[in-house]
Amino acid sequence: MVRFAGVEKRFGKHVVLDELDFEVRRGERVALIGPSGSGKTTILRLLMTLEPVDGGVIWLEGKPLTHEYKGEKLVKASQKHLRAARSRVGMVFQQFNLFPNMTVLENITEAPIHVRGQSKAEAQARARELLATVGLEDKADAHPTQLSGGQQQRVAIARALAMDPDILLLDEVTSALDPELVADVLGVLRTIAETTSITMLIVTHEMGFARDVADRVLVFDGGKIIEEGTPEQIFTDPQVERTRAFLKAVLGH
Ligand code: ADP
Ligand code: MG
Repeated sequence: MVRFAGVEKRFGKHVVLDELDFEVRRGERVALIGPSGSGKTTILRLLMTLEPVDGGVIWLEGKPLTHEYKGEKLVKASQKHLRAARSRVGMVFQQFNLFPNMTVLENITEAPIHVRGQSKAEAQARARELLATVGLEDKADAHPTQLSGGQQQRVAIARALAMDPDILLLDEVTSALDPELVADVLGVLRTIAETTSITMLIVTHEMGFARDVADRVLVFDGGKIIEEGTPEQIFTDPQVERTRAFLKAVLGH
C-alpha cells in the first residue's frame, strides 16, 4: 500500500529523515511511536504531500506519490499529480483544522463535491452515514465552534473518511484534547478499525490504543526506525535500550 524507499528529508542543514525505508501493507494498522522531534509528523506530512521529499521515492498503491513517470524516467511530481495523489490520503491532525465558517455537514461534503465531483445529495447521504459512525448524527447543522474538542475531532475523522482514502493518517489526534474527551475519540477510532479494513498509519502517545489497534509498531528515534515488532513484542519485551527508555518515560514506570 505504502512504501518509503530511501526517503530523505532536510530542513536547511538539519537532516530529519535519512534514507528511510518502510512499508505498510493493505489493511494493516501501523503505529509510529517515539520521542518528540523524532520525525513522525514529518513522515505523515510527506505522505500527505504537504512537504516535498529531498531524496528517495514514496509509493502508494504501486504508483509513485512524490514522483511521476516521464516516459520511463521518474521525475518530481507536478502540482497536478500531487493534487490527485493527495485525495487518496486522509489525514487527521492534532489540531482539528475544521473550516470554522462551514457547518459540520459542509465540512464533510466539501472535498467529495469539489475534488471528487460527487453530487450534493450523494455526498450528504455519505456524510450522514459517517456522522452516525462517529456518534454525531444530530450535529450536521452545527458549526465547529458549537462543538467540544472531542466532537470536532470526530467530525475531522468523518471528513477524512468521506474521501474514501486508500490510507488514513492519524497524528496524535487526542493530544490537544481535555482528558475526559480522549476516550470518546479513541472509541470511535477503535470502532473504525474493527468495522472497516482501511489501512491506518497512527502516530500516538496513547500506548494502550497502539497496543489494541496496531498490527505492527515502529519505534522512531532521530529519524530512524530503531526497533519494530508486534505490539506484544514492543510493549512487553523491547530489545533496544532507547525503546525501553522511551516507554518508561511515556508509561511512567
Ligand atoms: P515528531 O512529530 O516526531 O515530534 P517532527 O516530524 O515534527 O517530529 O519533527 C522532526 C524534526 O524536524 C524536529 O527537529 C523539528 O524541529 C524539525 N522540523 C519539522 N518541521 C519543520 C519545519 N517546517 N521547519 C524546520 N524544521 C522542522
Ligand atoms: Mg509530531
